[in-house]
Formats: sequence, C-alpha cells, structure tokens
Amino acid sequence: MTIQKVLKSTCGLCQIGCGILAHVDDNNHVVKIEGDPESPLNHGVLCPKGLASLEYLYHPDRLRCPLKQLGKRGEGKWKPISWREALDTVAKNLAKSRDKDGVESVAFITGSFKGGCQERYLQRFCNLFGSPNFIGQGHVCFAPRIFASNITYGFYAIPDFDYPPVSITVWGKNLPENLHHVEQRLAKAVERGAKMMVINPRNIGGADKADIWLKPRPASDLALALGMINVIIYNDLYDKAFVKEWTMGFDELKTHVRDFTPDRVADLTWVSAEMITQAAKFYSTNKPSCLQWGNAIDQGVNSFQTARALCILRAITGNLEIPGGDVRWLSPPVYPLSPEFNLPEKVSPEIRQRRVTTMNKIIPIFPYSLPQDLIKAIRYGDPYPIRAVYVQGCNPLITYSNAQETYQALLDLDFLAVADMFITPTAALADIVLPVASYLEYDGLVVPLYSIPVALIQQKGTRIGECRSDYEILRDLAQRLGFGEYFWDTEEHCLDSLLAPSGISFNEFKKICALVGTRLYRSYSSQGFPTPSGKIELYSNQLKEWGFDPLPSYYEPPETPYSEPELAKKYPLVFTSGKRGCYRHSSGRQIPSLRGVHPEPVVHIHPQTAKNLGIADQDWVYIETKHGRIKQKAVLSSDIDPRVIDVDYAWWFPEDGPADLYGWTKANINILTDDQPPFDQEVGSTNLRGLACTVYSCL
Ligand code: SF4
Repeated sequence: MTIQKVLKSTCGLCQIGCGILAHVDDNNHVVKIEGDPESPLNHGVLCPKGLASLEYLYHPDRLRCPLKQLGKRGEGKWKPISWREALDTVAKNLAKSRDKDGVESVAFITGSFKGGCQERYLQRFCNLFGSPNFIGQGHVCFAPRIFASNITYGFYAIPDFDYPPVSITVWGKNLPENLHHVEQRLAKAVERGAKMMVINPRNIGGADKADIWLKPRPASDLALALGMINVIIYNDLYDKAFVKEWTMGFDELKTHVRDFTPDRVADLTWVSAEMITQAAKFYSTNKPSCLQWGNAIDQGVNSFQTARALCILRAITGNLEIPGGDVRWLSPPVYPLSPEFNLPEKVSPEIRQRRVTTMNKIIPIFPYSLPQDLIKAIRYGDPYPIRAVYVQGCNPLITYSNAQETYQALLDLDFLAVADMFITPTAALADIVLPVASYLEYDGLVVPLYSIPVALIQQKGTRIGECRSDYEILRDLAQRLGFGEYFWDTEEHCLDSLLAPSGISFNEFKKICALVGTRLYRSYSSQGFPTPSGKIELYSNQLKEWGFDPLPSYYEPPETPYSEPELAKKYPLVFTSGKRGCYRHSSGRQIPSLRGVHPEPVVHIHPQTAKNLGIADQDWVYIETKHGRIKQKAVLSSDIDPRVIDVDYAWWFPEDGPADLYGWTKANINILTDDQPPFDQEVGSTNLRGLACTVYSCL
C-alpha cells in the first residue's frame, strides 16, 4: 500500500467543523484520518467520533445499494434494487401525493449535519417541489438562541475567548464533549487568568473547579436569568452609559424584573438567594465577560425567552462587541449562508401560509415546520393530511418528542423514503431506503455554525458500494420531478456557485481550504445596531407587534413539581439529559470504538436518592414518567442534586436487529416526553427537561 495523497478536509460527523487530513492509498481507499494541525478551529485535535471516521466509512452494516421494503413496514424484508428503480419510485410517490392531496401533503425532514451543505440542498429541493413543510430540529437546538439574538441586537454574538476575558460564564453547555475546540480556547483564557462561572446541574466542563458553580433546577434557567438581571439593576451594577446610549426599554425591563428577587428565584430554581446574588455580581463586575451558552436552554416552554434574557444580561452589563466580551463577526462571503440559495420564492405566499406550523402562530421569521405539527397532520389530518415524507439523515423515531406517537405516524404514511448510511429504526419503517455517502465520499463546503464563522473544504477521498451523496440523489430526483434545471450537473459546479460571492472556484478553494470571517469590535458606534431602532431592544416592539411577550416572561413548564404538584406525588424526581461526546444524537451505536467508550445507556442518580430507592451503582433501573417507562443503567453521582436525575439521550440498539425494530423503545428518552402543548410560544420548542419522573429498580 502506498499513500497516494493526503487530502485536507473537514470532519462531518458533527457540525463543528474540525479539520482533518485524509490519507488515501493507491487503491483509492482512505486508510488513515488525523487532525489537521493547520485547521483554524481544532488545531489538529479530533474527538472520539472524528477518530472513528474509518469505522463509519467501512462498517459492514453500511447500506451499499438502494432497498425496497417487501413486507409490512418494519418487517425487515428488503430487496436490493437499482438506483433507477429507487429514484423512479420515490419521485412517483412524492408526485402522486402532491397531485392527489396538494403539494403541502408532502413533507421533507432534515437531520443533523452530516457534511457539506446537505440541509441547504434539501431546503432548495423542498422549495422547488413547492411544499411549505420543511421540518428540522432547530426548535430544540440552537434556533431559539439565533432568533432571540437577532431580535434583541441584530446578530449572533460569539464569546471572545482569545482576548482574553476577565471572566467566562458557561451556561447549559457541555463544552469538552460537544464543542471541544471552543473548550481549548476557553482553557487558554483560564490559563491566562480568566475567572469562570458554570451554570449546569452536573459537574461538567470543570464546574467543580470554577469560581462559581450554580446547579439550577432543570428548565428553570429563565427564572435564574431574570433574578440575576434583578440583582444587577437594583444594585446599580449595570453599565449606565452603555444602557443609556445603546438600549431601549430599560425602564420597562426594570419594572418587569422587580418581582424576581433572589428569594423568590431561589424557590423556583433551587439555587440559594446568596448564590444568585453572587452570580449576578460575578458576571457584572468581572468585565469584560463572555457568556458561552448551550443547548440546555433550547428545550422547553421558555427557550426563546431564556435566550432573550441572556442577551439582555450581555447588553445591560456592556459586554457586547467589546474585546473579551461577546462579539459580532462578519461571515465569509459564501452562498450557503444566504437564504437566496434556498429559493424560498418558489413557494407562493398562499401555499407558505398553509405551512402546518403557521397555524400555531410562532414568530413569522421561523422558517421550519415543527415536528409535533407534522406528526399531528399525519395522524389526524389536522390541519390537513400529510401523506408522503422524505427523510434525509434523520431518525425521528428516536429523536422526536413522544416516540410512540411518532411511530404510529410513520406507520400511517402512504409513503416514506429515508436516505441514510445505516438502517435505523426510522429507516426500518421506510418503503424505500437510499444509501448515502459519508463525508469522506464527496466534495463539499462546510460552514459550521457554533463558533467563529468560517467556510471549510470537504474533499472526496473514496466511495463505498453504490452510495451517492445527498446532492446527487436530490439532483436526480429533481430531474424526474421536472425541476432538474435548478440543480447543477455536478457537485463541483454547485460548489463553484456556492463560492461565487468570494470570487473563487471550488478548485481554487482546494488550495486555501478555509475562509475565515472578520471580527468586529464596537461596530455599533458608527453604524448602530442592526435592529429596527438601531439600538439593543431590551423591550421588543417587534415581538409585541407579532403578539408575543416584548420582555422575557417566565412560565412554569408543564409536568413539574410546581405546575402539577399532584403529579409530583407519584413522580417526585425531575430529569434532565445531555449529549455524550462519543455519540452524535442517535448515531454511532454500531461503531465499536464509540460503543466501547459508552456501551450502555446510563442514568446519573445522587447516591442518597439511590439509597432511599434501594438502587445500587450499576443496577438496571426503570425511569418512568406519565408517558411511559424505559430502562437504563444507574450510575451514582454525588455532583447532581438529589431531586434530579440525568438520563441518556437517543438510544437504540443496532445489535437487536429488525425483529424488535432495533430496541427502539427500550431506553429511548422520547418514550418519556410529550409532543403536546404548551410549547415555547415563539419557536415551538417541546418540553424535554425538568419533567416529573420516578426511578425504580428492575430487580
Ligand atoms: S467534534 Fe465533531 S467535527 Fe470535530 S472531530 Fe468530533 S465529530 Fe468531527
């Protein structure tokens, strides 16, 4: 074996954009992956998933050709078919539903990032098809923070760890496991003297070594933020000059938070009044201070307004756009970041109004239909029937709230097509499964969203079996459905077009491999803030006009000890959950090295709670809510509040095989969750944290 070339590329096993070097031999096999020391993000370091890239690539269970379901959905009787037959069948069934029940009866589901711009390609396809129903997971992942930031100050602020800050706050984020290259930057700032505060129910990211560690009750983060704003305002700790010149609505905010005293907030959050005061003083007086937030705040009835409250904390302390604070960046000039690429105008306003979620009145700028509305439309024809669904790299049976209802909905469909790398529990229910190329098998442009804005190269190293990239699949489906002219003949021509605003071709991009955005400090001093008023909108007239709370109001989530005390008698604990670094959502359970790191679903329980319940470390236990029960292995952890448990997310068992649909009900956290209102009012987040539960031994 001779190494023929070493390609600079970007890992596609999660969305954060680590640079890799892919070693390709003279048989066109990728034989080695290592971190790229020249990457502007990860500087050569890869996480366990990235290091397992070749296990994904060559896994014996990889789908290698299209499959057609011969038996009933989920029976596991598959027949290999040609691409021609597979694509003809998918196109015919999507068109059939469109012609019979209207274009809105066809929905397209996107999953998490798997490389390149595949979500953008599907959005473009969905718009060209004419359907208003494009379904993502943004409502419980990142979108609350993006939209809250844009409405409050007009951009998404990024912590300026490199300056460095005097203090750092990490709120609801497991940086070491889920954003490791940002953790590297944070660690350097701490080495250079930055103080740290961690807000997390578990000892994550060195919480126990932080200067302050708050452990709020899961889903009470907004109350905590409002309490901190109260302390900052009523103790004159805010930046008066900045607030006066650059914000609007401060007086209304001051009145709004008056009742969120530390004593009241202590009752709601289980954080002592003293600690709340200390946290507020820490954040406001150790300036510049940056705030790294995370997915924990996206998953409940208050998700959008929690993000708004954190934006307000940044604003009233004058930490926005200052060195070492939370700053604005201009993205590199590439098309994936532009909504124009998606061709939204191809869906008429009348049809767009028929998006299933418009009728729930979330903020009108939110682009997706919500999963819970999709499931309701399929199951009950409310507000109209959805009959055919195309799933691109997503596993809704495991990742959507209320898994039992999702299961019934998938069975109810007239037609389900799934494009994925493996048979998942969702793919097992499909009529047609399309084998998708992994990130090492096609060229792409990667634009990660979670740290400094960059555009990165992804290069094809090999190709497995008959797999095709999502672009190739959608292009060929588009040709069959009559809008092929909107897709370029080759992926490279498409990438040339995506790079056009930067003035280079994809071939030229291969020489530089990365475009980095531009950091701005105090750009508002010459341009104002990019909001309707030109100021930071603490009080948002825009939200008020749309019929939403102009200031962040705290609503007690459903199924908590406070909103449903009777329920809490039977279910006296509350649960939170988190993502483990070796897995990406529901993927990776069939990868030996990753499964070796985390072989079983695990629930963390305080030792005293376990003792009271007769549970020992490593016992298998049932976790039950009013919606159902699952089984996970108990790990005793003294870092967690005795009233809280931390449940593993997104489990299924590839080794269980099709007879049991890969064990989709055994440990799946979404057996425990609901897809019924109340939702977050602005973006429709379902309630995934802080719900009443109980635990008992399986013995
Ligand atoms: S953190 Fe994400 S992008 Fe980086 S190596 Fe791991 S899976 Fe790949």
